[in-house]
Amino acid sequence: DHAGHTARTKRTEHAGHDEGPRTFDRLSATFRSGRTKPLRWRRAQLDALERMLRDHANDLAQAVHADFGKPTAETMLMEIKLVLDEIRFVRPRMARWSARRPKLMPWLLQPARSWTVAEPKGVALVISPWNYPVLLSLEPMVDAIAAGDCVCLKPSELSPATSRVMADLIARYLDPHAFAVVEGGADVTGALLEQPFDHIFYTGGGRVGRIVMTAAAKHLTPVTLELGGKSPVFVDGTADLDAAARRIAWGRFVNAGQTCVAPDYVLATPDIADDLARRIARAARFMFGDGVPAFDPTDQTGDRRANVSNESQISERNIDRADSRIARRPSASYARIVSKRHYDRLMSLMPRGNDPRSAAHVVCGGFGDRSQRYIAPTVLTHVSPDAPVMREEIFGPILPVIEIANAASAVAFVNARPKPLACYVFSHNPAVRRLFERETSSGALGFNLPLGHLLSNRLPFGGVGASGMGSYHGHAGFLEFSHVKTVTAKPTFPDTLAFIYPPYTKGKRSL
Ligand code: NAD
Repeated sequence: DHAGHTARTKRTEHAGHDEGPRTFDRLSATFRSGRTKPLRWRRAQLDALERMLRDHANDLAQAVHADFGKPTAETMLMEIKLVLDEIRFVRPRMARWSARRPKLMPWLLQPARSWTVAEPKGVALVISPWNYPVLLSLEPMVDAIAAGDCVCLKPSELSPATSRVMADLIARYLDPHAFAVVEGGADVTGALLEQPFDHIFYTGGGRVGRIVMTAAAKHLTPVTLELGGKSPVFVDGTADLDAAARRIAWGRFVNAGQTCVAPDYVLATPDIADDLARRIARAARFMFGDGVPAFDPTDQTGDRRANVSNESQISERNIDRADSRIARRPSASYARIVSKRHYDRLMSLMPRGNDPRSAAHVVCGGFGDRSQRYIAPTVLTHVSPDAPVMREEIFGPILPVIEIANAASAVAFVNARPKPLACYVFSHNPAVRRLFERETSSGALGFNLPLGHLLSNRLPFGGVGASGMGSYHGHAGFLEFSHVKTVTAKPTFPDTLAFIYPPYTKGKRSL
């Protein structure tokens, strides 16, 4: 363990601005040598990655916990397990995906044969964010390995503990000729982006997405952009409100709302809007508590008593007293906000009494503790569509509920905004579901199911428009990191092409 760490530290120390070019050149030479092409090499790398995750699941989960208090059980369930699932899904299938696929040729060219074959693109750059730092680094890597690519991984500087552990482990478990982890922030990423990678796979916000695509354009490097956006939820009176409330609360508040496909806001019909908001608040309290536990990176139990700040007095007023069965309790099942900057950004989205634009009502939460980077699960009702909280992706534990007349108005509301990464509909009315499927565009659409599509290796995962381009997971990911090459072959005798060679005699013109 120690030797690996020291070696890596040395490397990082010596890493100047030339680390990007040096890493790229090294990986490029490996790719050209053909080392990554045999399926048995790819299989060995996936086996090694699987071993790495099994041996060090705890180290990874604790690093994520140290970075922003994500419960270790959540990292196991929502990150490590999903990467393992992806390995086990692509490993037995990649031979078939890489095999030649015969295609018929048009009669004009007969006799002839043709087929397609997936070849690795080359050296891929994977730029990952901090919110699911293991999943969003390693799942693209699994797809790239299956495709036969070399990978340079640039994890987020906002989750430094996880980035460090991944750099150590990858150097020890995977083929060091074919894989590299480069740690650092915007300057390091900028230097990497100057290299002529064969593919760039970026996950993160749209602002940096534009920087990535601009840099890629210089080398005509293809990009996958996994971005975010405001993913809407529509709920009408036909829905099972309790189930809807539980699922929306989970989707919004898991990882303290820092999930790209989280429900960002709710559009609810007036008959159920207030009731739904109360039920979401109750479900959120049950799952994630409403106290302010001390955040101690070494404490895995979170069992200690709430360190309740003055600010939390506000919440007393907002507690739904009707439901006294749910005790006020600090929660070890709730993550913290990644940085003070994001904490301040999120708190500035809370409605303020002196703000005439926001007649918003705080159903639960509304407060935080800056020293802990804790923000209570917050549900707001009577939110105006142009309130600050509706002007940007929230990416935190705040859920505005907006009243909307009906499904048609909800569709118009969604279509008037940039295309979201996901859209969710809770309705038992089949016509309403069809309306959303036909009339809205989003990366994914979930009926009664937020986040679910993320968990399937059989479903392409990606955005559209402002929420990104390209997709991955399973076969989609394999294809994203591959070039599907067309191959044709025709015997030289008889030369039937003579039928289409000039001169264009009368007979040929009628072909
Ligand atoms: P982040 O801050 O971790 O940034 C992502 C990456 O971009 C990091 O590696 C970072 O070093 C790099 N970066 C930052 N500034 C840069 C610059 N100026 N030049 C070059 N590189 C730079 O992540 P974030 O942007 O805060 O992530 C949050 C966003 O990501 C949200 O919008 C969320 O919806 C989106 N997201 C999308 C998905 C998805 O799968 N589609 C998943 C997670 C997050």
